[in-house]
Amino acid sequence: MNIRHSGIGMTSSRTRQRMIDRLRVQGIKDEVVLAAMYEVPRHLFVDEALASRAYDDVSLPINYEQTISQPYIVARMIEVMRASVTFPIKRVLEIGTGCGYQAAVLAHVFPKVYSVERIEPLYLRAKRQLAALNIHNVTLSYADGSAGWPAMGPYDGIIMAAATPAMSTQLREQLVVGGRMVLPVGRLEQWLYLVECEQQGFRESKLEPVKFVPLLMGKA
Ligand code: SAH
Repeated sequence: MNIRHSGIGMTSSRTRQRMIDRLRVQGIKDEVVLAAMYEVPRHLFVDEALASRAYDDVSLPINYEQTISQPYIVARMIEVMRASVTFPIKRVLEIGTGCGYQAAVLAHVFPKVYSVERIEPLYLRAKRQLAALNIHNVTLSYADGSAGWPAMGPYDGIIMAAATPAMSTQLREQLVVGGRMVLPVGRLEQWLYLVECEQQGFRESKLEPVKFVPLLMGKA
């Protein structure tokens, strides 16, 4: 029997461990991130019909034309954000809560997480799911997050889970000095960028090609 298709196998430590082993092969090295990825039950964030594929390295539909990001990119973005050697990242903002999976992983890694989602049913579902998992250090907002969430800022780290056609300057202003932002930029061709807020200004690094759903304006 294929273990991924048995109800028990899906949540088994072996299935999760396989995902962690694959993340290592893909180059994820941060043990704190790997431990958080192991802890968060990814199958609870997708429809039951897709749960058997939850630990595969794929993005999956979560309705409303949105997707849950593939495990590799979730781990990679958090690893990049944590890679600062000079500055402990404590308060982070996520733009694009979706099903709440990445917010749950962030909540295992950082003391305080803020996350914004523009689609109300997704916001509500994420809120329910995080509460069901007893995750209480995430504050969600149903809003257009394209300009961040200035009222709760500044942040030590910002992660964008939807691709912006062009780098926004509004967002980076919500970083503290020493803070880091990881975001996909582009339309058809997208690249992951790291923006570091330094005393003298901002430093941008282009990291790797990625594929995200687009950042959209307004609430839905
Ligand atoms: N973080 C999610 C990824 C969700 S996909 C995960 O854990 O898998 C990206 C999400 O960004 C979608 O839910 C989409 O609705 C949301 N989004 C797109 N534009 C947005 C905006 N302007 N403000 C807030 N959320 C936005």
